[in-house]
Amino acid sequence: VRGDGADDLRSFLERLRRERPGDVVDVRREVSPRHETAAILARLEERFRSPVLVFHRVRGSLLPVVTNVCGTVARLALALGCRVADLAERYARACERPVPPVFTGEAPVQEIVRTGADVDLSFLPALVYHEHDAPNPWITAAIVAARDPDSGTVNLSYHRLMVDGKDRTSIYMEPGKHLDRIRLRHEAAGHEMPIAAFIGAHPAWSVGACFTGSPDVEEYAIAGGLVGEPVALARCVTQPSVPVPARAEIVLEGVVPPAERLEEGPFGEFTGHATGTMAAPVFRVTAITSRRDPLFQDVVSGSFEHLLLPSLGIERHALEVARKAVPGVAAARLLAPLTIAVSLRKRDDGEPWRVIEALLDSDVYTKHVVVVDEDVSAVDARQVWTAVALRVQADRGVRIYPGRRGTPLDPSADSADGRTAKMGIDATTPLRPARPLTRNSIPREVLESVDLRAILGEGLTPRA
Ligand code: MN
Repeated sequence: VRGDGADDLRSFLERLRRERPGDVVDVRREVSPRHETAAILARLEERFRSPVLVFHRVRGSLLPVVTNVCGTVARLALALGCRVADLAERYARACERPVPPVFTGEAPVQEIVRTGADVDLSFLPALVYHEHDAPNPWITAAIVAARDPDSGTVNLSYHRLMVDGKDRTSIYMEPGKHLDRIRLRHEAAGHEMPIAAFIGAHPAWSVGACFTGSPDVEEYAIAGGLVGEPVALARCVTQPSVPVPARAEIVLEGVVPPAERLEEGPFGEFTGHATGTMAAPVFRVTAITSRRDPLFQDVVSGSFEHLLLPSLGIERHALEVARKAVPGVAAARLLAPLTIAVSLRKRDDGEPWRVIEALLDSDVYTKHVVVVDEDVSAVDARQVWTAVALRVQADRGVRIYPGRRGTPLDPSADSADGRTAKMGIDATTPLRPARPLTRNSIPREVLESVDLRAILGEGLTPRA
């Protein structure tokens, strides 16, 4: 964190190049925007590598593409100025002590302004990821800003945009989430919803935009709280009620008209699946502003970055909801898509169900909840499934909740409205088990008396 309010995607990339040169890979040969950038990241991920990729020459566009910026916890920790182990605490602290944004006079993101007939999205790289995705160009790292007409707070959230013509995209909004609720209020009044989609973000803006919880919270203030200094904002040129980061790379300003729909998809999502097409709202672009030499940022859909980016926000919210239900909750973890594991020191056998029901009600993206005892690490999928195997009798430890509100992105959902059966698993040991249970243990004094050096000889080398 520079401390001069000038943190942005560029300064973060510069810092990475300086402090962790192995974390940035420059690809200078020409690549195709159709599947090839996604293929390069997929091949790296197979080898457990996850660098930021900078594609300097992408066919069909003059703009460099930057991807996988938030692809490792180590980079998030560097961006937020904390240790990896402290990321959750850093996020929670930002929510307790948000730092409101400030308007600045200077807005590099408005160095170039195009309005009216000059609006043309075809200068952007036309990225397509998966084989069965709709062939239109996709914009995956646009953070959409919109003002809540009732509270006046500004919401930030990620939305996939499918480009359809020079000044129009679809915009996918998860039903029940904050932006969709704002849209419905505009629609009920017969009004257009003014929005701005900004591209090119410091990681704090990215993870801040993934705040999950009260609609009264301004995600800009979470982003500010994450780095301890306010995000510098500028007013949009054609949608002056909507503020955008003055140091973003590109801003698409515009409106979502009340009745217009566009057939959107298929699009391979974070679940690893596409779920067909749908009639999505439309984003009419009224202005494009940018730096003189903008970087185009994206997130390869379904990549590790795609799962990691929202996890800090989701886990913080899950922990808050679970602790409100039961104070003895120790940890909450997004264990797999749509799946939360919670560890708990329970005082009565009803507590796991109170946690499960609170969490299943709290979010369309929470479908399965597993509760384990405090001696099981909720962050370790192997330990959680071992507890499910050894501490559950399924006729009383598993409850099914049919007909709940879930996400249409879940490939198992029967219909596009996202109706889903949810499930809770209480994998905690009963406070009074039916049979005496004793965990394996070796007497501590015997463990401590073992001299491995003597057993293995002097050749013993310490292991990392
Ligand atoms: Mn919000």
